[in-house]
Amino acid sequence: MEKSRFIINADFINPPEGIKVTNFVFDDEPYFKCKPRKKPLQHFVLHETAGRSAAGCKKTLLKKGYGVQLILDRDGSVSCHGDLANDVMVHGNQLNATSIGIEVINPYAPKLAKGMSQTETIPAEWWTWCMEKDRRYVLPTQAQLKTLLILVPFLCDKLGIPYEFPTANLNAKKQKITGWNSPPKGWRAKPKPGVVAHRDFAAHADGRYLLEYLMEHTRQ
Ligand SMILES: [Zn+2]
Repeated sequence: MEKSRFIINADFINPPEGIKVTNFVFDDEPYFKCKPRKKPLQHFVLHETAGRSAAGCKKTLLKKGYGVQLILDRDGSVSCHGDLANDVMVHGNQLNATSIGIEVINPYAPKLAKGMSQTETIPAEWWTWCMEKDRRYVLPTQAQLKTLLILVPFLCDKLGIPYEFPTANLNAKKQKITGWNSPPKGWRAKPKPGVVAHRDFAAHADGRYLLEYLMEHTRQ
């Protein structure tokens, strides 16, 4: 248990009760490519892998030279791949410099979940990316949601990120933040500080179920 901690500002931080953490210092987790953080942390970006395993996710990120500070596995355990305060990694487009990211291991589309045991689906929502004609979304596990609901507010507090939902107002008619892909010269708008889904501000499809879950289970 002593080793099982997050790394924040070069310090070891115990996780909330019941959450299992491994890290890149003691547990042979990869330390993903990163740069020193120069801007204040403002955003917590929620991702889903569209893949089946944490091992596969780590391999892909290493190969591409990308990174994410945290990975949440199917069993609800978390791995820490950098200093959450100080290491900037490539995961969230225009928010890289001001964010940390968490990859939740979730195949997302039924086709990508073939062969996996115990996956549940719901009918597609406005934010669902549908492969072919199968209009369903594969849910993350209950263990992942349980961890997420405890972990995100805990880390927001430790890192000075407001536990707020600046993209809460997005919907079927307005699916992305204003100016997310505006010219000139590739300028990209950023959401206000808080917790956001990757899909909300970039040409991606992931994270919205996680955000909806947090919003639904958080008293505002
Ligand atoms: Zn993503």
